[in-house]
Amino acid sequence: MSPYNMTSLQPYNTFGLDVNSKQLLTFKNTDELLDHLNQLKSSGEPYLILGGGSNVLFTSDFEGTVLKNEVGGISVIEEDHESVIIEAGGGEVWHNLVLWSIQNGYGGIENMSLIPGSVGAAPMQNIGAYGTEIKDVFVSLDAFEIASGNLRSFQLEDCQFGYRESVFKRALKNQFVIIRVRLKLTKVGFHKINTSYGMIENELKEQHILNPTIKDVSDAVIRIRQSKLPDPKEIGNSGSFFKNPILPKEQIDKLKNEFPDIPVYPVDENQVKTAAGWLIDQAGWKGFRDGNFGVHKNQALVLVNYGGAKGKDIYDLSEKIIESIKEKFGIELEREVNIY
Ligand code: FAD
Ligand code: NAP
Repeated sequence: MSPYNMTSLQPYNTFGLDVNSKQLLTFKNTDELLDHLNQLKSSGEPYLILGGGSNVLFTSDFEGTVLKNEVGGISVIEEDHESVIIEAGGGEVWHNLVLWSIQNGYGGIENMSLIPGSVGAAPMQNIGAYGTEIKDVFVSLDAFEIASGNLRSFQLEDCQFGYRESVFKRALKNQFVIIRVRLKLTKVGFHKINTSYGMIENELKEQHILNPTIKDVSDAVIRIRQSKLPDPKEIGNSGSFFKNPILPKEQIDKLKNEFPDIPVYPVDENQVKTAAGWLIDQAGWKGFRDGNFGVHKNQALVLVNYGGAKGKDIYDLSEKIIESIKEKFGIELEREVNIY
């Protein structure tokens, strides 16, 4: 139990917003978490669970305690000749887990290289990138139920994973703290790499790599991300601010008459996905800047803090973008980032 002796949350949110909380406490295991929660419950003070702070927007100071997950550990808990089941503490850095898996020759999460944040937050929105989502390798997780103080195990079907969604973001919101996550990874030799996501193939071709390894795929993803996305250490941001909309096919068919270039990716028989970044770009927001905040110049899905911005200003900008996309395309964008 180690208080940071500071209340500024600036180092703990990738938007780099200069907000405060009453205190920030860490927990390395469920006993420490339980101690904190018991104290907070008796004082009635609000609290918030935080991992890497890469998917949050603070619109004001947080009038309570931030509980930062530092549950560590990565290990193999089961193994056969083709695969392993690994278990990782919720406070581990996601990208470190990816690097560890590559070093050990376990495939399955290399396409999700360089996603910021913690292992514990990864199932929250079923993180995904370059054609892979955590649900594709997910086995189970242990989560601490705040009301009862009990640890509960969730299997794949219990998590109700969807596109950037899970039961923890919806029906069970704010009720559980994810402590440990288990994933099934495949040993090199049995693992089928996935380079079908356009940019990866191009990147591998440019490097003259014909038979890519999981490390080659990871390196390619890292290079693409570094070339396209703003680094939060330089420009504050929380990645994609909005989700890509999933729409009924008939709606897209109608839109195609007016906007023939609208990107369309099939989801199932009746639904398709379009790219929120394209819609925002077409509505003229890409590169928009109002003083110290705006829309990134290369990636319209990413709202940015150029330094010293207020979270409320970024939130208000997101409202304006939502309104303008509704007006132009009749599509209601949904925020991916968690607002506080
Ligand atoms: P936080 O921001 O700390 O928390 C997010 C939410 O989860 C909060 O509501 C918090 O209360 C809750 N939470 C956190 N930990 C726990 C826990 N252990 N138990 C219960 N609740 C918890 N996301 C993608 O899916 N794909 C990408 O490719 C991607 N790229 C990104 C690129 C950049 C540059 C940035 C800044 C973000 C990107 N993101 C991406 C978003 C973000 O990295 C992920 O959502 C990540 O999983 C958030 O982890 P975190 O630990 O930072 O969560
Ligand atoms: P991009 O390659 O410019 O593509 C734009 C959008 O089109 C993406 O959001 C992607 O949807 C979709 N898309 C592209 N090719 C696709 C295909 N073959 N099949 C299905 N959908 C396809 O995207 P980008 O912005 O550079 O991001 C690259 C990847 O990193 C994406 O997977 C994206 O989700 C992920 N990423 C996520 C965040 C975040 O904060 N959530 C931030 C940065 C990057 P999907 O998003 O569904 O893949």
